[in-house]
Amino acid sequence: MKKSIMKWSWIFMVLFFTLSIVDIRFGILGLLCMGTPIYLAVRGGGRVHCAKYCPRGSMFGVFLDKVSFKNNLPKFLKTKTVKNIMLVWMMGMFSISLVMAGGDFTKTAFAIVRMMTVSTLVGILMGVIFQPRSWCTVCPMGYATGLIKDGQDKAKKAKQAA
Ligand code: SF4
Repeated sequence: MKKSIMKWSWIFMVLFFTLSIVDIRFGILGLLCMGTPIYLAVRGGGRVHCAKYCPRGSMFGVFLDKVSFKNNLPKFLKTKTVKNIMLVWMMGMFSISLVMAGGDFTKTAFAIVRMMTVSTLVGILMGVIFQPRSWCTVCPMGYATGLIKDGQDKAKKAKQAA
């Protein structure tokens, strides 16, 4: 079983933002942040990225723990409706900004950094008000990997039943 690196994987997040400030083109590395959980889920790992590797989840867990008010997350934020809205909204916004970038490398990198920054700021705000990793409840990537796993489980069951 693979070891968790959640205690220190936040370093990748800090590195990502630092490099992007130095040169916005490094923002393209954000694709790894989005692609890795999906890749691992498609390979049958389920939500392994969330449990063991995610730099963002690591950052919220490590840094916000000390400053968080640790209030309970409102129930409506845990509903499927909110998760679906977040997934569609973020993917929609991202797709639009990619189209508007028109294949330009720097503009694409900027669009990625902007999305990463906005989601990180929202995650920090949620983590301070509610539990440190509250963002993970609505995170589109985490939700998408869960959907992939559910789909795989259903396909497996259907195959066994056939
Ligand atoms: S839910 Fe999102 S932010 Fe949280 S650990 Fe998973 S991918 Fe990372």
